[in-house]
Order: sequence, then structure tokens, then C-alpha cells
Amino acid sequence: MSIEHLDVLIVGAGLSGIGAGHHLQANCPERTYAILEARDCIGGTWDLFRYPGIRSDSDMYTLGYVFRPWTEAKAIADGPSILSYVRQTASDDGIDRKIRFHHRVVRAEWSTADSRWTVEVERGDTQETVLLTCGFLLMCSGYYRYDEGYTPDFEGTERFAGRIVHPQHWSDDVDYEGRRVVVIGSGATAVTLVPALAQRAAHVTMLQRSPSYIVSLPAEDPIAIALRRALPAKLAYSIVRWKNVLLTMLSFQLSRRRPALIKRLVRRGVQRRLPPGYDVDAHFTPSYGPWDQRLCLVPDGDLFEAISAGRASVVTDRIETFTERGLRLASGAELEADLIVTATGLNLLAFGGMQIAVDGRDIELSETMSYKGMMLSGVPNLAMAFGYTNASWTLKCDLTCAYVCRLLNHMSERGYRECVPVNGDASISTQPFIDFSSSYVLRSIDQFPRQGSRPPWRLYQNYALDILTLRFGAVEDGAMRFSTGISAPAEIEPLAA
Ligand SMILES: Cc1cc2nc3c(=O)[nH]c(=O)nc-3n(C[C@H](O)[C@H](O)[C@H](O)COP(=O)(O)OP(=O)(O)OC[C@H]3O[C@@H](n4cnc5c(N)ncnc54)[C@H](O)[C@@H]3O)c2cc1C
Repeated sequence: MSIEHLDVLIVGAGLSGIGAGHHLQANCPERTYAILEARDCIGGTWDLFRYPGIRSDSDMYTLGYVFRPWTEAKAIADGPSILSYVRQTASDDGIDRKIRFHHRVVRAEWSTADSRWTVEVERGDTQETVLLTCGFLLMCSGYYRYDEGYTPDFEGTERFAGRIVHPQHWSDDVDYEGRRVVVIGSGATAVTLVPALAQRAAHVTMLQRSPSYIVSLPAEDPIAIALRRALPAKLAYSIVRWKNVLLTMLSFQLSRRRPALIKRLVRRGVQRRLPPGYDVDAHFTPSYGPWDQRLCLVPDGDLFEAISAGRASVVTDRIETFTERGLRLASGAELEADLIVTATGLNLLAFGGMQIAVDGRDIELSETMSYKGMMLSGVPNLAMAFGYTNASWTLKCDLTCAYVCRLLNHMSERGYRECVPVNGDASISTQPFIDFSSSYVLRSIDQFPRQGSRPPWRLYQNYALDILTLRFGAVEDGAMRFSTGISAPAEIEPLAA
């Protein structure tokens, strides 16, 4: 039986996978490629999440693709608009014709002798196992489990008479009209859900163990709207994109250098939007520094408005147990509820749970070091689209995909069939891939690749620096080894922790 071969296989048809398809078509038009998608539709995150109010928590001028202007009025956009933007990109460019749905990639093995990956796919529609081969594997599989959100082991859940739902599994039959709702959590999902549910619920309580940093931004960007009226769409988009990139970088750098100042400014912003006498310190002043965890954005202060109107409230306490009627808290207080929403986070998952192997040896991702935040030490011809944690995801994914195209073109020109990042410097130490203190990161980060202490192994989470490295830096930088396909496999050095 002959196995189908493609030059490039992209795993995942979310925001990143569709972007990757565009870059390949534009910059490597002669390469054959396909996108393998486990689900039956395009969109990933933006199709999966269906809870009320679902929206971006960064602006669409930077979450949108570099090559396709975001033209909607709202900068902080709702989930369905983002989904339609991704789907429209796929159909306008004919990328949708390259997608194979119901194709879950479970394993990929690199053969140095053949200079190709053999990819094992489970078909969800026919239950068959299919093999494909490719010269380059581009992972756009996101960073979390699709089948199950994270819920801590709460005591007494079986006693609760109402309904418990995780936002990742929200469906149309979750009834909250006129109900007393408790949302457990304080992250981006909780602060999105609370004002949205408060529009129709009897009351919504956000129950948090500890506060997060919450910043209000205008849902519509007046500068963007004015520029769009005066300038061609692409130029206006590019100016607003850079404005937002620079503002985000500035706020991140200031948070790192002057945390006390930013803490004060954020606190003042919150205080101004809440009624006099509101206990801002108890409910909106985190114990950690700004940007030690992801900052939450709320459009037009909608969360604070719901609290000020008495439709929502915040309780900062610990759950002792679920009861028949709601929750009993460590302070002894009881919260009655008809519906409890566990906005307690995601289960992180690297490479969509896929196993990779090189020449018969299974690779533990934690044994690898990320190269320029997009390839892995000792793993040939594979890149991953993994976005920023302190800025919009797509900024990095666009750079990664454009770099992969440069790499592929460079290899064609020189007759190379294999490229592999190799660390030959024993003095480089390693650290976790993401340096957030959030519990969802700490829970799973040991399953992810590590980063090194110096370039090209260090992740700076800095768009301007990445432009220099990925768009203008030399492809042949000493760390990336190229071969025509007849060399011995690269040895993978175990990493020092
Ligand atoms: C609720 C929510 C809001 C967010 N808001 C923002 C925001 O405002 N700004 C921001 O920068 N980031 C945000 N993020 C992060 C967000 O996930 C990314 O911005 C972006 O959507 C990720 O796109 P992606 O294509 O890389 O991954 P995903 O959207 O996760 O798509 C991955 C795709 O790969 C498929 N896949 C996975 N494993 C396999 C496999 N083994 N085989 C085949 N297919 C597979 C999945 O089915 C999915 O379709 C948000 C995340 C969530 C959950």
C-alpha cells in the first residue's frame, strides 16, 4: 500500500493553522500541504467555547493576522466574530480545501534515513488509522485539552441540587434566566461570564480564592475608527496594530520594572469604577505582581458596572464544601445557588497529546529545549505555533509561520532535506517554557519543552525582538544544523534542570 506524501503537514485548523496555511500558500506556493484537524470544523478555541459573553481578552488588531485587517468596530471582539474572521480567511484563500477533518494525529516519527515524518492519524468519522508522510511538520494544535476543562476536586458536589457546569462544556440548555448563579474563578473566563450572565440572572456572585489584576479598556478603539475613515484599510490596520503592540510592550515592561506603580494605577482604575467604600483591597488587589499572571481585560468596565448596579458581587474566600443549596465557605458563610459555573481553567496539553519520536526513540518534550520559541532541540523538521503569554497569540504565530517558510525556501535553495536545532553549549541552563505563577501553568508546565538561559534558546516574549530574530536574523545561525539527508541522527543531550 502506498502512503500519501505531502511536503508539509499542519496539525490543527484553529487561528494558527489557518494562518499557517496562508503563509505557506503565499511564500512557498510550490509546496504541497494539508491541514489535519481532529474536529469537524475550523476555528479551534473560537468554535469550542460557547459560554455567554465569550470574547477575546486582547485587542483584535494584534490578535488578527498580519496579512488580513480586522475591520469590525469592536477591538475586544465577541467569539462568533472571531470565528467568522478565521473561517472567512480560510475560504477566501482556499485554505479550507486543504483541511482534512476528523483527522486526529496521535503519533509522528521522524526517520533520518528517509528525511521524512510518518504521521499516524485516527479518523474520528470512520474509526480507521491512516498513515501519511511529510517533509516538515507544523504544529498548530493549541495548548490545552479539548475534551475536558480543569475542575479541582471540590468536596460534596454530589449533594448539590442545582446544576454545575464548566464553561468549556457550556451548551444552550444551561438555564440561568432569573437564577442565582455562582461563578467560581477570577481569571479571564470568570470576568467575562459574570457581566454577561448578570444581564439575565437573578444575581451573579463571582467567588474567588484570590483577586486578579483587572483593567478596563474601551471596547471600541476611537483612534482605529478615525484612522479607518481616513486611510486605506491595510495602512490603518498596520498603524493601529503597532500602536497596540507598543502600548502592550510598554505596560509589560513598566510592570516588570515598576510593579508598585502599575499596581497603584490598576487599583485606582478599579476604585474609580466602583461605588464609594467598596473593599477594593479585599477583592481586586492581588498578592502577586502585575504580569506575574496574565492580566484580565474588561471592555468598557462591564464587570464593575454589573457590581455597581447590584446585579453581581464578588466574594473572596475558600470553598469548604458544596451543600444541597450551594456552597459553604471557609469563613463559615454560605452562598445559595441554582447554578454553579466552575470557571476554574484549562488542562494544558502540549502538541494535542501527540507522541513524537525520532529514529525509533520516543521524545519527552520536557527533555527538549525550545529554539527561538518555535522548534525543539534534537527534533528535525518540526516547528510549533505557540503564541505570547504577555501579548496576542497571533503576533508570534505569524512570525513563526513566516520563519518556517524562510527556512523551507532556504533548504530548497541549498538542497537540504533536514534541519535540526542542536545545543552545543553545556553552559546553557534551562528554565520552564512559561514563567507564569498561575496554578494552571504550574500544574502542567513540566510536560512542555524547556527554554534556555541564552539566545536562541531563550524566550523573551518580545515581539520587536522576535521580528529582528525571525524576520531578519540569519537562518544559518550555528545552532541550526542542516543536512542533505545522509548524516547521522543528532544526539539529544539530556537537559540540566
Ligand atoms: C476562552 C479563551 C479566550 C482566549 N482569548 C485570547 C485573546 O484574547 N488573545 C490571545 O492572544 N489569546 C487568547 N486565547 C488563547 C487562544 O487559544 C489563542 O489566541 C488562539 O485561539 C489559539 O489558536 P490555535 O489555533 O493556536 O489553537 P486552538 O484554537 O486551540 O486550535 C487548535 C486546533 O488544533 C486541533 N488539534 C489539537 N490537537 C490535535 C491533534 N492531535 N490532531 C489534530 N488536530 C488537533 C484542535 O481540534 C483545534 O482545532 C484565548 C483562549 C481561550 C480558551
